[in-house]
Amino acid sequence: MNIPLSVPELRGNEWKYVQECLDTGWVSSAGTFVTRFETELATYTGARHAVACTSGTAALHVALQILGVEPGDEVIVPTLTFIATVNAVRYLGAVPVFMDCDEFYNLDPDKAAAFLREETELRNGACVNRATGRRVAAVVAVHVFGNAADLDALIGLCRERKLAVLEDATESLGTRYRDGRHTGTLGDIGCFSFNGNKIITTGGGGMIVTASAEHAARARYLTTQAKDDEVRYLHHEVGYNYRLTNVQAAIGVAQLELLPEFLDAKRRHRARYAAGLAGITGLSLAAVPSYADNNHWLHALQIDAGRYGRDRDTLLAQLQAHGIQTRPVWHLNHLQKPYQRCQAYRIETAPRLLDTTLTIPSSVGLRDQDIDFVVSRLRHE
Ligand SMILES: *Cc1c(COP(=O)(O)O)cnc(C)c1O
Repeated sequence: MNIPLSVPELRGNEWKYVQECLDTGWVSSAGTFVTRFETELATYTGARHAVACTSGTAALHVALQILGVEPGDEVIVPTLTFIATVNAVRYLGAVPVFMDCDEFYNLDPDKAAAFLREETELRNGACVNRATGRRVAAVVAVHVFGNAADLDALIGLCRERKLAVLEDATESLGTRYRDGRHTGTLGDIGCFSFNGNKIITTGGGGMIVTASAEHAARARYLTTQAKDDEVRYLHHEVGYNYRLTNVQAAIGVAQLELLPEFLDAKRRHRARYAAGLAGITGLSLAAVPSYADNNHWLHALQIDAGRYGRDRDTLLAQLQAHGIQTRPVWHLNHLQKPYQRCQAYRIETAPRLLDTTLTIPSSVGLRDQDIDFVVSRLRHE
């Protein structure tokens, strides 16, 4: 028995579309699948524009640059996220300011709002952090595990404070916020990832979505080496080689066709886990927000060690011995070596969730007997 945390499910037209790339020679960044992947993802999410990138991290990097983040600026980020979110800030020479999370593992919108109200002020049209004197340029919200962050009120405040809003929607493709709006389309720019562990994959890849034609045009320009004259090799800016290839996009188009099935599978898995865990004292599935329709990308377990009798690390080791892969949430970023000296604001919930949470097998291809086996190991021992 070997049940991994999250592995890809390649069972549609992937092979056929990749073969088409190979047969026609269109393997690199020019090719119809790149455009098709962009168009279809834009249509699916209701975004006006989509620009394909080499990774979610690349998408975040370029998106922050497009939103005007400059060296020495500050960017508000949650401490509980994969470090790529924060590294993208650092790539631009900007400084992260760390926020706490709410019960859904997402940037706590009330605390972020309190920080903006109490710790920053508008000076000459710029939002300035009183403690550091630096300009705060943007807020990055992450939809952790596919749970939609509750952003409506915070986005309103960001507009007042002249702050850009970037959504790290790398984990939340398929998640709809209030009124059915897709995550990634709530702020100024949203970024998706198609890394191997995400709900759909291209092997590696990412996508920038935005309602702004200007932002989209800049994303296209910066991700393709900032070419101002392709024939004479003129470049007026420093660009990046961040464009997705046609082979990867071909896989993406096939995966996107499967997404509705994947979402159904994730919903069923959550229900089966929930039913199985119902009778186990001290264990529960992490709650998901009732204001959203989540993609249930990664299922998370909350452990009350006192009542359950085992703590997070003991459980992780015991499950591993049975071939069941689980993981804690990410080590908090304000404690990571590169970021220990950055400002962190009222971080209280994140350490508690880190200590009590284990993410459990969540692949689309999980069978009922896999889930039942995981539950049986959680029950006994
Ligand atoms: C996966 C992920 C990323 C990075 O995406 P890549 O495509 O792997 O570069 C960024 N942020 C979060 C929250 C992620 O889960």
